[in-house]
This record gives sequence, structure tokens and C-alpha cells, in this order.
Amino acid sequence: MTNDLQTENRTAALEVACETAVSGCVFRMRTEADDRERLLEITRDHVREQHGKAYTLEEIEEQHVNEVEVEIETGETDESEQNDG
Ligand SMILES: [Zn+2]
Repeated sequence: MTNDLQTENRTAALEVACETAVSGCVFRMRTEADDRERLLEITRDHVREQHGKAYTLEEIEEQHVNEVEVEIETGETDESEQNDG
């Protein structure tokens, strides 16, 4: 095991919310920071299929992706909602 300087159980994550771009849409997704490309691609597909708008991955990343900090859950809670897709 390595000694990590981080003492808090927090990690960086990426979150995108379609409602920031299109009024009335509640599409929201959060991934680990390492999954940035996947997040962008899924969001791009969503916007194209649901809204008929073509965004580039760069546009989505610059305009709609927020970097957030999330607490790492160390408990055994398994009631979190997950969207398998
Ligand atoms: Zn949407």
C-alpha cells in the first residue's frame, strides 16, 4: 500500500447535466474523472438522438462538463441509482 497525501475520502469526478443546455431535459450523468471520454461520447449521443443537435466532444467538454468532488463511499450501501446502458 502507498501512503497517499489525501486524507479525506474524496475524489474528482465529472458531471454533465443536459438541462443546462436544453430546457426541460433531465439527463444527468456522473463518471469518474478517468472516464471523461466515455462521458463526452454518451452525452454527445444523447443530445444527437434526443434533441437532434450535433455537438462536438470539445463543445460538450467546454460548455457542459463540470468537475466535481465526491465522497468515496466506503460503506456497504448499495442503494445508489445506476443507469446501465
Ligand atoms: Zn437532453
